[in-house]
Order: sequence, then structure tokens, then C-alpha cells
Amino acid sequence: MAKLQAIRGMSDTLPDQSLSWQYLESAFQRIVKRFGYREIRFPIIERTELFKRSIGEVTDIVEKEMYSFDDRNGDNVSLRPEGTAGCVRAANQHGLLYNQQQRLWYSGPMFRHERPQKGRYRQFHQFGVEAFGMAGPDIDAEILQLSASLWKELDLSEYLTLQINNIGNAEDRSRYGIALTEFLKSKAQQLDEDARNRIYTNPMRVLESKIPEVQQALQGCPKLQDFVSEASQEHYLALQGLLMRANIPFIENARLVRGLDYYNYCVYEWTTESLGAQGAVCGGGRYDGLVEMLGGKPTLAAGFAIGIERLVLMLDSLGKIPEEVRKPIDVYVLVVGANLAEQALELVQRIRTEFPQLGVVSHCGGGKYNSQLKRAFNSGARLAVILEREDTGSNDLKNAKIRRLEDSKESETVEIANILPKLGEFLQNSGS
Ligand code: ATP
Ligand code: MG
Repeated sequence: MAKLQAIRGMSDTLPDQSLSWQYLESAFQRIVKRFGYREIRFPIIERTELFKRSIGEVTDIVEKEMYSFDDRNGDNVSLRPEGTAGCVRAANQHGLLYNQQQRLWYSGPMFRHERPQKGRYRQFHQFGVEAFGMAGPDIDAEILQLSASLWKELDLSEYLTLQINNIGNAEDRSRYGIALTEFLKSKAQQLDEDARNRIYTNPMRVLESKIPEVQQALQGCPKLQDFVSEASQEHYLALQGLLMRANIPFIENARLVRGLDYYNYCVYEWTTESLGAQGAVCGGGRYDGLVEMLGGKPTLAAGFAIGIERLVLMLDSLGKIPEEVRKPIDVYVLVVGANLAEQALELVQRIRTEFPQLGVVSHCGGGKYNSQLKRAFNSGARLAVILEREDTGSNDLKNAKIRRLEDSKESETVEIANILPKLGEFLQNSGS
């Protein structure tokens, strides 16, 4: 029978690769804790309506990328394509938002039916943070500082660039949309079908087109910057001041409008050159209108999402994962000879109790000394403990051998009664 394969664009994360993920996840968790953010978890499936209302009907995500289906009750549901909508739905449903300030984070899988390629998958994973009830720009600066702290923690700062833009509020954009529609109408001949379809429904999305002819046609188009309100501009300038003060370099990118409808005021993206085409690793901004759009009371809001796969790719390709992360096993216990299972089980458990931070693997399934030793080397363990049946006739083991596996091959026979302190000495001498 043919071997079953995963669905296209959905990856498996194998044990070696998971070590990189865990390294990143624990760094992220340290940072959000340092900034006082608390975790929120919400379902992977929501009513399709939620995403239509928040992300926008005329967006790539909602038009082409969502995994939507009718469940057995005939309710139309979708796998979440991003986290903000579900986070807002959950926080609002449980009364976390009204008249309060919240700093929240989430992580987990997201689903978009895109064309799979390096750094772009149909199931991918994000970390996100969302802050509610704060007008900014101080909270916006804090959120950017949080992301910058993560890059620093991961030693990636020099590879990431912050791009920011001011996209105004909904009214600014609708006034701008009218002007842009007029302009695009006059250029309709030069636009592709996709862009032409959007002249009336979502003209700003045309600005993000990657088709050279469309970009050519856009020359001389009205600029959003000429339409944004004074309040938005003030916020944007104040944020820039805070970023400079916090030593977070940025560049302004007037073309950055982001693929979701709910943003307002400042939006931003962290990008890298080290990944090729899929260079965006983190995107976010303010979204003060969203809570109300989803049926809550007006609530100030801001946040970002990080693409975990892209960050892991960066960490791996730049060699930023520390060597010790690759070696989760410290001690490998060889069990040579028959009828040692009970004693091995007991001794290994004593080692785990004495050194709870270590990874201790006990060889199971028997086998010759040499083949067990080979497994010990392959496991990456620093030390082997060798339990071998002695010819004493007694059922108790008196001695064991401790052997270094890394640099020197030094070994020592020690009394079982003395094995824990001896192991402690060996561990101290073997570096980490
Ligand atoms: P892109 O411009 O690369 O399509 P996006 O603007 O659609 O990104 P967001 O919705 O802002 O992405 O999501 C935040 C982050 O999630 C992105 O910066 C990226 O790192 C990651 N991401 C988005 N889509 C995918 C995907 N299909 N596969 C892997 N990572 C993704
Ligand atoms: Mg996208």
C-alpha cells in the first residue's frame, strides 16, 4: 500500500527540529513574562463570520485563503487564519475588555490556503501579543520594544529591520479610497483583472500588487500621507520619538498597508534579508475599531504576530541555536547482561531524583555492550553509566562504571553505594 503523506503545505516537526522550536518558544515566554503579558488560549475553529467581519470581506485571506466548511449542523466555520480575531472574540465574550487594560499573548497554529514555498505554509504557527485599553503611543512603543527584546535574546537584532507607516483611521482611508478609486479608474487599462476588480471594493489593496505593470501604473497616484488626520500624524511622530529614545532603529515605508482591514494609525513589520522572498517575520499595529466591529464596546487595541517557522528558519540558517539545546540527553545508562532490569530501573530513578535537571535515559531491550555504547554516543550524552552483571553469584550489583563520552574517554569503576556523589563529580568536570 502506498505510504500516506501529509497534506501539502502542512509540515511535521520532527524531534530534532522541535528542539529549535522549544528554544524559540522558551525565549518568547521569558520575554512576555518580563513585560507582564499573560497567556490566552482560544479555539482553532471559529464561525466564518468572525473572520469576515474582522479581517474584511475583500482581503486575500477571506476571499481565497481560508479553510471554511459547513460542520454537521450546517454552521459555516473556518480554521483560524490568524489570532487577533479569536483573541478579541474570547476576551470580549468573557468581559476582559470593557474599562480594563489587558496585556495578552497567544501562540499556536494558523491556516491559510496559500501556495506553499519556503517560509510559506498552509498550516503555520504564530506568537502574538495584544494589548487592550491603552491609547498609545507608549503602548505601541512597548510592544515594539518587546519584539526588539526577543530579537536581542535570540541574537538576531542585526538581521532584522523595522518598517513603520501611518495608515490613518477608517475615515481617512475612506476619503483616500475615493481619491484612489478616481485615479485607478483612469488607469484601468493598465491594471490586471485582480486589481481592476478592486478599484471599487478595496482600492488600497491594489497598492500591494506585486505585478510590475500595476506598480508602473501606480506612479503618481494619490498618497495616503496627504489624507491622514492630524491626530494620527501626531501619534505617529510621538511613536517615532519613543522608538529613537529606546534605541530601536526604524525606516518609514509608505507602501506598507498590511493585508488586514482592521488596522489604524501606526502599522509595522519586521523584515529580514536572510530568508529570501518571505522576509516578513513579524507584523502588527493598532486596531482601535476592531472590538466594536465584533460587537464589543469601543476599546483601544494594539498588537503584533510573529511567524514562528520563519524565525526558526532564521535561527537555524544563521547558526543561532546553542549547541547544548541539541543535546537534551546528559546521561545514558547501559544495562548489560540478563536480570538487571529491576536494579537498573531503581538506580536510574535515583539518578533522576538527585539530578532533576538532567535527561537520563536507561537502555531498554538488552543487547551487547558495544551496540549499547554506540547508542550512548549517538544520543549525545556526556556520560555513560554502565551496569554490568558481575560473576559474584549475588543478585545485588556492587559496582558500576562511569564513562565520559565527550572529549576524553576516561572511566572509573565506582561502588553503587557511592554512585550519586561520583556522578556529581563527573558532571561538574564535564563542562556544562
Ligand atoms: P506575508 O506578507 O509574508 O504574506 P502577512 O502580511 O500575510 O505575511 P501576517 O498576517 O501579518 O502575514 O502574519 C504575521 C506573520 O506570520 C508574518 O510576518 C509571517 O512571518 C507569518 N506568516 C504569515 N503567513 C504565513 C504562511 N503562510 N506561512 C508561514 N508564515 C506565515
Ligand atoms: Mg500573506
